[in-house]
Amino acid sequence: MTYPVALTIAGSDSGGGAGIQADLKTFQERGVFGVSALTAVTAQNTLGVQRVGMVEPALLKAQLDSIGADFQPTAVKTGMLGDSFTIEQVVQAIDAYSWTTVIVDPVMVAKGGHTLLEQEAIESLTQLLLPKASIVTPNVPEMELMTGLKIEGDSSARKSMEALLKSGVTAVILKGGHRTGPLATDLYLDQSGREFSLSTPRLATHQTHGTGCTFSAALTAELAKDHSVEAACTVAKRFIQAALQYPLSLGAGHGPTHHAA
Ligand code: PLP
Repeated sequence: MTYPVALTIAGSDSGGGAGIQADLKTFQERGVFGVSALTAVTAQNTLGVQRVGMVEPALLKAQLDSIGADFQPTAVKTGMLGDSFTIEQVVQAIDAYSWTTVIVDPVMVAKGGHTLLEQEAIESLTQLLLPKASIVTPNVPEMELMTGLKIEGDSSARKSMEALLKSGVTAVILKGGHRTGPLATDLYLDQSGREFSLSTPRLATHQTHGTGCTFSAALTAELAKDHSVEAACTVAKRFIQAALQYPLSLGAGHGPTHHAA
């Protein structure tokens, strides 16, 4: 029996709410087989990130080569990449193994404020990795850091999306979670000018740790199953909304998004 395979290249979250753990749990729930390459290990819980260690470059390369030599992932996602060197290695693997459906979640800062991508690596991300991406899934702070443009309303949101597309990105979905108002609206725009938006009622919850990872993992899983981008975004949005609606009370701090739909 053939089964769709999705690859996540990301950091480990010992607290299980974000990173590789969120990705693999989401892949499983969405019916794809998950394989993974670890870029970093974080010591983390609901209170925040206590420590970060990068995976040795040769070990990251070995993981990517092991996967590339034996599996044909139909979609690949990137999460926490940490530094420029890691980004370069990931780009090399994307080229070497002709991974064509690449979802980039431009993880930069954890909700507790801990840096997950060095400042100087933002340029490597935008110049080397984003041109390889089929779709990029920034939140508002990440979009502002990638484009240098402040987002204050719908027109500045649109301008920043256009600016990102001009730099060679195929498609972008700008998530609305960090904005205000009764609806959380995600905006999609691609190179062909296709656009759509997805809105859900904004939920008052602090159990939001790992929402970005979970959303992009659900999107990756649907694309791995060869669903259209619009259908995949719609499923991912519904998936994350359902997770936020039924939060688990775990830990004393910012709890994880509940994955089981
Ligand atoms: N830790 C790791 C390893 C991650 O990949 C991510 C992803 O964004 C985070 C933490 C961030 O989690 P949070 O949703 O709390 O910002």
